[in-house]
Amino acid sequence: MYYFYINYPNFKDRTILIHHGDCGQCKDGNGMFDSGSNEKGFWAGPFKEFSHADEALKSLIKLFNYQPEIGIHSCCQ
Ligand SMILES: [Zn+2]
Repeated sequence: MYYFYINYPNFKDRTILIHHGDCGQCKDGNGMFDSGSNEKGFWAGPFKEFSHADEALKSLIKLFNYQPEIGIHSCCQ
C-alpha cells in the first residue's frame, strides 16, 4: 500500500513524497512517531497502487494555489 503526507507548516518548503506502507517514515500512515494524521498534517492512503497515490496527489494539488514538488521516497524506488 502507498501513502503520502501533506504537512501544513512545511507545505511550501518540502517536496511531497509518496511512501510505501513499510517505510519507517510512513508505517502504514502512522508516521515515524506514530502520530498519524493530526492538526499538523494528514496521511492520504492506503492506495493499492503507486500510480493511484501519484494520481491522487496530483489531483489534490490542483485544488491548491501553490504547486509543490512531488517526489518518490527511496522506499518506493
Ligand atoms: Zn518512505
